[in-house]
Amino acid sequence: MVSSRPPRRVAIVGGGVGGLATAIRLSSAGHAVELFERNPIVGGKLATLRRDGFTFDIGPSLVTWPDVFDDLFQCADTSLGEQLDLVRLDPQFHYSWPDGSTLDVHDDPQQTEQAFERFTPGAGADWRRFDQRAERIWEVARRTFFAGPITGPLTLAGRMRSPSDLIAIDPLRTLDTAARECFDDHRLVQWAGRYATYSGSSPYRAPATLACIPHLESAHGCWYPMGGLDAIRAALDTTARRLGTQIHTDSEVTRIVSGPHRVTGLELTDGERVPADIVVANVDALHLYRDLLPESDALRQVRRAPQSTSGFVICVGAVADADRKVGHHNVWFSSDERREFEALEAGRLADEPTIYGCVSSITDPSQAPPGFENWFLLVNTPPGAHVDRDAYAEMILEQLASRGVDIRSGARFVETMTPSDIAERYRSPGGAIYGTSSDGRRAAFLRPANRGTRAGLYLVGGSSHPGGGLPLVATGARIVADLIAEDL
Ligand SMILES: Cc1cc2nc3c(=O)[nH]c(=O)nc-3n(C[C@H](O)[C@H](O)[C@H](O)COP(=O)(O)OP(=O)(O)OC[C@H]3O[C@@H](n4cnc5c(N)ncnc54)[C@H](O)[C@@H]3O)c2cc1C
Repeated sequence: MVSSRPPRRVAIVGGGVGGLATAIRLSSAGHAVELFERNPIVGGKLATLRRDGFTFDIGPSLVTWPDVFDDLFQCADTSLGEQLDLVRLDPQFHYSWPDGSTLDVHDDPQQTEQAFERFTPGAGADWRRFDQRAERIWEVARRTFFAGPITGPLTLAGRMRSPSDLIAIDPLRTLDTAARECFDDHRLVQWAGRYATYSGSSPYRAPATLACIPHLESAHGCWYPMGGLDAIRAALDTTARRLGTQIHTDSEVTRIVSGPHRVTGLELTDGERVPADIVVANVDALHLYRDLLPESDALRQVRRAPQSTSGFVICVGAVADADRKVGHHNVWFSSDERREFEALEAGRLADEPTIYGCVSSITDPSQAPPGFENWFLLVNTPPGAHVDRDAYAEMILEQLASRGVDIRSGARFVETMTPSDIAERYRSPGGAIYGTSSDGRRAAFLRPANRGTRAGLYLVGGSSHPGGGLPLVATGARIVADLIAEDL
């Protein structure tokens, strides 16, 4: 799609998925786009660790709502199917509780309903009811929240067709309250509440609107690109370059240059100035308004938005064990999730955290040497938490062993990543995984806006609307490209 408007010089700060997706959209619209990334490789949090024949996705490991990426590739005259070999996973998730109970959630909703029914009699119907409500939330959220920029509650209300839309998205109750209303079994309340963590939030604070996330999985699938998530980075990188985006790696931006009303370019560490008509910041909004374009009012506003949780990552090159009952995606729930989230909220590490584990070599043998598995474990931590990496890793691996999954013996190596590593590597304050969270009724309106404080400045990525996670930052890129077209 080539715009009839004269092309502009666009400079993008940061080569995360939001920055790359914006580059693709703006290059395909005919603009002259340059992207500057401080790391030696683009992709941002979508990153990979390779060691001794093992490959680990050390950022996102789960792909949901792939249509967003298809839409993106379509505007570059290609398609998701052409770019990636995507596998629809079944089962989607293997869940375990401390009492020894387990639940497999399937790609086929009917099978999932039966699995819930086997788990607790009556829960099949409860799940169906939960999923139907979530479907309605999703239908409204898609054409309101995700449709364009949000500058306040009125923007959202203006996109609603009737008051029933507002009731449907259930913004006043928490996800935990909505889950309790649907499920009698406490373990299933815990299952539903965990979806708050998909946006770095707490089920006791995030609105019930987030129930649309499990519906996204039940209706649109959980996906894995063969070759690992790095295949997405490579496809975005190649597509952007093919469209003419100039990508500069090892290029740190130190300042966004601006007149009183309009941005005019940016400056790099070596002092080089890059003139631009439009600057798109794919960096955290805090880094933007504190370091690159200091603005006290904007900074105050940014600090009001709740920060997402960070995470502690453990990668283990483990010996495969056919007797272990694990899937591609696994969750070992804690025995007391309220205590767990209270600890996170108080800025402490949970002493018995819920553990997420991804073993992608089960689907894709290229990710580990024969006879081995690539174990990626993630637990939530408060943003900015100090983690004693060896001690916490030992505790988590011990906790897993006590649940019948001992991956320590015969492990080739153990690598860890703390919140400080995440903060340092991607310039994400506190190592916040998703940027801003959805904690609180006003969270959606406190996220920094996609239009910046000066003309020609735009924000894309996890800390700005519509928030973090791969499909959301790619949606943010669509919103920003539309805004730029509108403003020109
Ligand atoms: C451990 C972990 C697990 C996750 N799991 C999932 C998952 O399963 N599914 C999912 O959808 N999402 C997941 N996410 C979240 C997802 O990875 C992010 O929301 C998304 O990748 C963020 O993209 P972004 O566009 O905000 O940019 P970022 O990835 O934050 O990238 C910003 C880029 O800007 C660069 N930069 C910063 N400052 C400068 C500067 N001054 N000059 C130049 N460059 C700069 C950084 O180096 C970085 O490359 C996970 C994240 C992590 C860390």
